[in-house]
Amino acid sequence: MDYKQVLENLYDIIASEENDGAIATYIPELAKVDANNFGVCLLSTKNKEYGVGNWQTKFSIQSISKVLSLSIAYQIFGDKIWERVDVEPSGTPFNSLVQLESDAGIPRNPFMNSGAMVICDMLVSYYENPKEDFLAAIRELCSSSEIIYSEAVAKSEASVGYRNKALCNFIKSFGNIENEPEEVLDFYFHICAIEMSCQELSKVFMFLANPNFTTSKGTKVLNLSKTKRVNAIMQTCGFYDESGEFSFRVGLPGKSGVGGGIVAVYPGKYCITVWSPKLNEKGNSYRGMKFLEAFTTETEQSIF
Ligand code: GLU
Repeated sequence: MDYKQVLENLYDIIASEENDGAIATYIPELAKVDANNFGVCLLSTKNKEYGVGNWQTKFSIQSISKVLSLSIAYQIFGDKIWERVDVEPSGTPFNSLVQLESDAGIPRNPFMNSGAMVICDMLVSYYENPKEDFLAAIRELCSSSEIIYSEAVAKSEASVGYRNKALCNFIKSFGNIENEPEEVLDFYFHICAIEMSCQELSKVFMFLANPNFTTSKGTKVLNLSKTKRVNAIMQTCGFYDESGEFSFRVGLPGKSGVGGGIVAVYPGKYCITVWSPKLNEKGNSYRGMKFLEAFTTETEQSIF
């Protein structure tokens, strides 16, 4: 398959069409990004890399980080994590509080903000220096020391994060957060504020695509059974209340973030990351969705 040709053709077509949607502005620092950025990077499991547009520009990965925190917690704690967070699609927005009351503080899945906070709480309990240790784990996954937190984005989100603070305190009231909410929230805001390029994200997600993946230190991240489960949660819960739509249109497991990034994984074949900051009304990158739908249609490859 000549991925290069397909990527370049689709990129030109989509770049020439209207760029609908709106940049996320509820985190003031995110509003500063140039809406015209558009990048794509595909990394195959055979280590062939193809990039187009702004594929090497770093951006705020936001909720994409939730796959990384989940995977690392899963590696550390194993199936015990499912005692504190469920694996059902929620059908509600990412920052919803409504189901938590009837579910007694057990979030529906680890990609909603509530579920990600419970995972963050586990990591805060486990690590000696949570922010430093988590970043070191991500750098090891990416074989790169260039991965950073944007302190400006983390601070900006903390300054307006009333709903996330409410969520964390609410879960704490049910006893499903062990640490002080302030500490968990600080960790959560930081992992959302990680900055990576499409190139780096495709590399970091390779452990979910390549069954033989090992980190720069030679460690295996997840075994096949755990990899299957993380990909399954991405498939069913990776796109807020548009997860069914993404499955329907693209047919791959993936995860989006309000910074406009989307990573999709084709197990055994490749990781592909698209970044375009304008979001549709469900909070997913407008061009990202469009590009990936066209890509799996054009290549006639999907897991289904
Ligand atoms: N840090 C963002 C928030 O909690 C993440 C949102 C997202 O990318 O879905 O609002």
